[in-house]
Amino acid sequence: MILILLGPPGAGKGTQAKILMDRLGIVQISTGDILRDAVRKGTPLGLKAKDYMDRGDLVPDEVMIGIIEERVGQKDCERGFLLDGFPRTIPQAEALDALFAKTGKAIDAVVTLTAKEEELVKRLLSRAEAEGRSDDNPESIRTRLQVFREKTQPLIDYYRSRGKLVEVDGLGTVEEVAERIKEALGN
Ligand code: AMP
Repeated sequence: MILILLGPPGAGKGTQAKILMDRLGIVQISTGDILRDAVRKGTPLGLKAKDYMDRGDLVPDEVMIGIIEERVGQKDCERGFLLDGFPRTIPQAEALDALFAKTGKAIDAVVTLTAKEEELVKRLLSRAEAEGRSDDNPESIRTRLQVFREKTQPLIDYYRSRGKLVEVDGLGTVEEVAERIKEALGN
């Protein structure tokens, strides 16, 4: 099974991705986690990505597409995987379609978590206190929400028009949202 989780920052993608991964027995590929790990280790990728991430901007498409091409080709992805945080732009979605066409794979569903912007800001600010992520500051949060509206929101129509979109209300407890996703996916 190949799933994509789409949603604005703070919608609970990472949390729901982990629940789905356990339930479906597939691996979670979080591009945010891959990048944060690279920054922590000071690899060339990390050095390249850090400034974009701290500002709340997107890391360039070609860098992200390269990461995904390499990652989904690994053995643990054979049984399926869940993409959390990728694609985030139309060029990334097109590159993914091209990659899957080449490798004979297909997306089963794109789950999008919806939430009001004021709720997202509240969640991100409280996560900043709990986790201390360097991009959870008010300025970066503003940029990330704007980037989502401009660059990522168009993907909702992209996948809707391809019959892949499953919309789920992201408001409520973690368990409530997990249950809604389960129902929406029909398993
Ligand atoms: P996330 O943990 O998914 O919120 O990602 C944290 C940050 O990593 C984002 O604000 C971007 O700077 C960067 N990032 C993660 N995934 C992508 C992607 N698919 N395209 C571009 N930048 C990304």
